Amino acid sequence: SAENALEYDVIVVGGGPAGSTTAALVAMQGHNVLLLEKEQFPRYQIGESLLPSTVHGICQLLGVSEELREAGFMPKRGGTFRWGSNPEPWTFSFSISSKFSTEASTAYQVERMKFDQILLDNARRKGVEVRERTSVTDVVEDDGRVCGVHFTDADGVRHTARSRYLVDASGHKSRIHQRVGGKRLYSEFFRNIALFGYYTGGKRLPAPNQGNILAAAFDSGWFWYIPLTDELTSVGAVVRQAELERVQGDREKALSKLIDECPLIAEYLADAQRVTDGPYGEIRIRKDYSYSKEAFWRPGMVLTGDAACFIDPVFSSGVHLATYSAMMAARSINTSLRDQTQETAAFEEYEARYRKEYALFHDFLVAFYDMHQHEDSYFWNAKKVTNNTASELESFVELVGGGASNEGALVDAGSYLTERASAFEELSQIVQRPVHVEGEDRNLLQASLARSVVKAGARIQVQAVIGENADEQTPVRPGGLIPSLDGMHWTWPAA
Ligand code: FAD
Repeated sequence: SAENALEYDVIVVGGGPAGSTTAALVAMQGHNVLLLEKEQFPRYQIGESLLPSTVHGICQLLGVSEELREAGFMPKRGGTFRWGSNPEPWTFSFSISSKFSTEASTAYQVERMKFDQILLDNARRKGVEVRERTSVTDVVEDDGRVCGVHFTDADGVRHTARSRYLVDASGHKSRIHQRVGGKRLYSEFFRNIALFGYYTGGKRLPAPNQGNILAAAFDSGWFWYIPLTDELTSVGAVVRQAELERVQGDREKALSKLIDECPLIAEYLADAQRVTDGPYGEIRIRKDYSYSKEAFWRPGMVLTGDAACFIDPVFSSGVHLATYSAMMAARSINTSLRDQTQETAAFEEYEARYRKEYALFHDFLVAFYDMHQHEDSYFWNAKKVTNNTASELESFVELVGGGASNEGALVDAGSYLTERASAFEELSQIVQRPVHVEGEDRNLLQASLARSVVKAGARIQVQAVIGENADEQTPVRPGGLIPSLDGMHWTWPAA
């Protein structure tokens, strides 16, 4: 039947940033990828303030930098916070960290309808078969291994598709993650509720910080104030669980009341109008979003982005964790598709690194929610949780810019790509010398030689070329893997 024809190397559930990034980076290695998305894009999503690691790291690897520039998103130089014991707002810029080159020191505030569409269209262009209005209902298992999905298409017709790997990138609301096993462990600490809407005509911070995210604490919690365009602002209150009753009734009244309680936000919105129609016309609520799964993968299946974990809206780590985890999941899949004996090591590496990045943000944010501290104490904490040798302020900016891991691909993907390309070139020249075989055999032989030469230690020669990324030659944990030369697989460090 036609059903039997649906066979792929990889199936991805969900076309948000995690799904379209994983799908594209796997398809770019020549694998056959199907992505299934429940909605018709563009679709609304929250999570509009991005970090440099996403904009200049992952998006550059994906090849969408130019498109992002042309989309005209609001440039974000950093953040401005009325937070902690200091009664005055304080501001940080990504540019104070040496990790973010001048160009990489500006991120964007994005309308997710546009941003997610760019990433999904890019996945399509990279060869991913994308089907929208297609809902995955369950996974298919065979002998304890996940090997596909059941889904319902736009016409309500049910299908089954099979794959060697399944990526669950279906976000916070979906239940597909349950099939990876283990529980979703909800945070005892972050039990916040968000109530949010959109305004036109809100005030802007003085130049050059008019694109900064503004965060303002008040008695019941804090507000985000994100300038999406010169006119449009995303405004949300994040309040404690104890305030649940206050946001359950009339949302319009609840939001205005909360704004009244926060003088800085009230001042910024004094002449603004709430948007009342279209996708921005609704006042939305989100809760129960701080959790981490007990397991991030099982044979044949991996969770990326919000499907695996999410912390809290403060400091905008969501899309960073989604796209960074997606890149690492793609590495694990690419590695395993090439050599299934490496599967356990590859996915353990994925989980270890994703948990490490999650823990950095988590531990820092716990300290950040102590409102009695001066900002210097928050900076000190950032240095502590990251074990950074840079100054306290710089450690803080590196962390909240998404650059705390030693991943060249996150902070300066441009030079990462060129360095890797030239290292690869050099390596293949070394490898080519003794080979005298014609045709396809030659390519295969070269590929396998390249692998064995890397393992045997030619890496040392290549390391000289990679230079600054040499820190990535050391695994982040004993017995762990490191990114391969092309950055799209994992490999073993030289003995
Ligand atoms: P999503 O973006 O949720 O994408 C999942 C996709 O899967 C969706 O398109 C959905 O339609 C699809 N899907 C679901 N189920 C199925 C199914 N069964 N079959 C097929 N498709 C399916 N992050 C930031 O970076 N900056 C911020 O400022 C920020 N603010 C936030 C504020 C709040 C209140 C909250 C709750 C989160 C915020 N986040 C922020 C986090 C951000 O929203 C998420 O981390 C991010 O969207 C995760 O991306 P994702 O690709 O994992 O999931």
